[in-house]
Amino acid sequence: MARVFIGLGSNLSDPVRQLKRAIEHLKLLEKTSVMRCSSFYCSKPQGPQDQPDFVNAVCLIDTLLSPERLLLALQDIEQTQGRVKQRHWGERLIDLDILLFDDRIISWPHLTIPHSEIAHRDFVLVPLSEIAPDTVIPNMGTVTSLIAQLDNSYLYPIQP
Ligand code: ADP
Ligand code: MG
Repeated sequence: MARVFIGLGSNLSDPVRQLKRAIEHLKLLEKTSVMRCSSFYCSKPQGPQDQPDFVNAVCLIDTLLSPERLLLALQDIEQTQGRVKQRHWGERLIDLDILLFDDRIISWPHLTIPHSEIAHRDFVLVPLSEIAPDTVIPNMGTVTSLIAQLDNSYLYPIQP
């Protein structure tokens, strides 16, 4: 079983509902169990500012799927929920990213693990530390030390 962290984000069509739907879809994945999910957090958009705030969360799953198969499964869920590709770092109905896959380091053309932006994103690190505070990110250090290095945090937890 691999221990995998998934980052969830949405800023369209009732983001809280989109995250809840995505978690239900994760629970239905073959050879996979959802072990823990963080609170939902509200965050400011990165990139273009003329878009709604995001809702983010992180889930810990145990899975027998390979990184490749899991990426495809996450993209399937995004499609099922109706994600349409818009501008870079722009608005999205649902975004599901593989943050960590055990302590593996992968740099394939279509898959980078740990996720390339993990060390700079409060909306990833804070929910991750909520559900697994002792996590070490390969080659980058502990989640706690990375949070301490963040310049600013615009994050606040929201009621479920
Ligand atoms: P974003 O970088 O904003 O999440 P997308 O969700 O549109 O953008 O993803 C673009 C591409 O990122 C996907 O086609 C996928 O192949 C690639 N990708 C690379 N590494 C990862 C990862 N760790 N998790 C999810 N997608 C990834
Ligand atoms: Mg993505």
